[in-house]
Amino acid sequence: MSGRATPRHIPRRRFGQNFLVDDAVIAAIIEAIRPARGDNLVEIGPGLGALTGPLLDRLERLHVVEIDRDLIARLRERHPPQRLLIHEGDVLEFDFSALGGDLRVAGNLPYNISTPLLFRLAAFAGGIRDIHVMLQKEVVERMVAAPGDSEFSRLSVMLQYRFDMEKLLDVAPESFEPAPRVDSAVVRLIPFAVLPHPAHDEAVLADVVARAFGQRRKTLRNTLKGLVPDGIYARLGIDAGARAQELAVADFVRIADEVAADR
Ligand code: SAM
Repeated sequence: MSGRATPRHIPRRRFGQNFLVDDAVIAAIIEAIRPARGDNLVEIGPGLGALTGPLLDRLERLHVVEIDRDLIARLRERHPPQRLLIHEGDVLEFDFSALGGDLRVAGNLPYNISTPLLFRLAAFAGGIRDIHVMLQKEVVERMVAAPGDSEFSRLSVMLQYRFDMEKLLDVAPESFEPAPRVDSAVVRLIPFAVLPHPAHDEAVLADVVARAFGQRRKTLRNTLKGLVPDGIYARLGIDAGARAQELAVADFVRIADEVAADR
């Protein structure tokens, strides 16, 4: 024996490492992505390669972004550099536009950074064709919630502003090693080619939405005080006594446009 077998990787909790070990789930994710040979695809957090291998089987080459050096060393041993293009570092600082346009994004994401990562992907939406990601089920339910649902939140509004989203499948904790303490789900996000409700100033929209959901039990009149003059609600036909959760994305855009026009 050479004694050089790769030692077992000890999962790192700080990097949200829960590795997929369920072949049926892996196959379902690949089927949902439907990679075509020449696709420009990036996998976030390839880890031990549960999705990486099956993706590479169907692609000419694949980009991956991974923070864990030990895992990167394993990936380098297993795949030639001209087919697997490894970007070492924090995906929250990664410049997705450097990979070119019509980008497809996939991954079983580290759940501890999922919200900032979704916001980062939203910032690059113009160059992205689609996104297929595994997330905590509760986060996916917030993403796709409708106004009036208890899960409707800042994340719902800011992502629904930019993406058409669909929950594809639920995944149980036993499909991972180690098993996470939460249920998971796979979601597809497709950036709108033309925004259905474009805001004049997206920074103002983000501000209005953050404030309105900052104290979700309070009425708009209270949460947006100082930002939105009372008269605006009547003009827009929006009830100032409503709570953020009851408003549609288009309503937030109309409020934000009034605020932006006032500046
Ligand atoms: N794709 C593998 C799978 O399905 O088995 C691993 C998924 S695991 C939930 C998340 C992966 O993301 C890990 O490989 C972890 O090291 C990596 N990761 C965690 N934080 C990261 C970050 N900030 N930037 C890049 N990769 C990160």
